[in-house]
Amino acid sequence: MSNLDLHPAPTRCGGRQDVTAQPVQELLPAKDVRLGESTMVRRLLPSMGRRMIGAWAFVDHYGPDDIADEPGMQVPPHPHMGLQTVSWLHAGEVLHRDSLGSEQLLRPGELGLMTSGRAISHSEESPREHAPSLHGAQLWVALPDEHRHTAPAWEHHRELPTVTGGGLRATVLMGDLDGSLSPATTFTPIVGADVSLTAGASARLPVRPDFEYAALTMSGEPEVDGTRLAPGALLYLGCGRSELPLRADVDSAFMLLGGEPFEERIVMWWNFVGRSHEEIAEARTDWMTGSGSRFGEVRGYAGDRLPAPTLPPVALRARGRVR
Ligand code: MN
Repeated sequence: MSNLDLHPAPTRCGGRQDVTAQPVQELLPAKDVRLGESTMVRRLLPSMGRRMIGAWAFVDHYGPDDIADEPGMQVPPHPHMGLQTVSWLHAGEVLHRDSLGSEQLLRPGELGLMTSGRAISHSEESPREHAPSLHGAQLWVALPDEHRHTAPAWEHHRELPTVTGGGLRATVLMGDLDGSLSPATTFTPIVGADVSLTAGASARLPVRPDFEYAALTMSGEPEVDGTRLAPGALLYLGCGRSELPLRADVDSAFMLLGGEPFEERIVMWWNFVGRSHEEIAEARTDWMTGSGSRFGEVRGYAGDRLPAPTLPPVALRARGRVR
């Protein structure tokens, strides 16, 4: 997925000063963003007041949308740098193509993980023949400095470990949850899990006190640490927990995102994560001029690639996790 905002504001984040060492509950505001011609998404991270959760730096939630008579998601080829994209569906399907030559149809319960490393480009679209409903989340993970120039890679995981008990079933997408380790490649201590709760569920999920966490509601009305959440809500939970009380009166699902607070300061602009204005500007130029083969080429997408927005007039600066 791409940030299609025509005037994206630079986001400076990283650093520990605004990480909450104690358990808290902060409901983060969502912003509606148009993605391509026909998809509206709820952007929950970065948001006013909070830019990252561990290395998670970007959270979009979309749907469930009725796309029976619509083209659905149509995101033309666009570049990425310095991050991983995590694609996760609850309904429908998305066709991924990238400059490595990957072409993969993603379905609910399957993890699409793209490590951009130094440079990659990809497209994401609903296939011509598609399910009537589309519902999912698109997440980005910032890469730490020592790995951000790594070679680009695409992973597709159909088999993911689960944690079960007390009416809870958690599928572990990224990292480790209560001893269940995802096969997905990670570069920082992180966790991403899809947690479903059956009606009447009551469970205490073991978590790590040194991680900060947030819960993204996908469906139903999960009760997380005593707070009932509506679909599309992102509740920041801070650090310092060893377990997370969960309940549900109706069938519900949420994504648990967490990780060790990301110490490095980064600059995030459009689809790039870097460390300086110059680096971002160079990536933008490389994409716009197609110079060399840095971002490669996506083959098979019926349409033009996405042009980059113009850079803001003020130089982008890497700073802390400021408000
Ligand atoms: Mn993308």
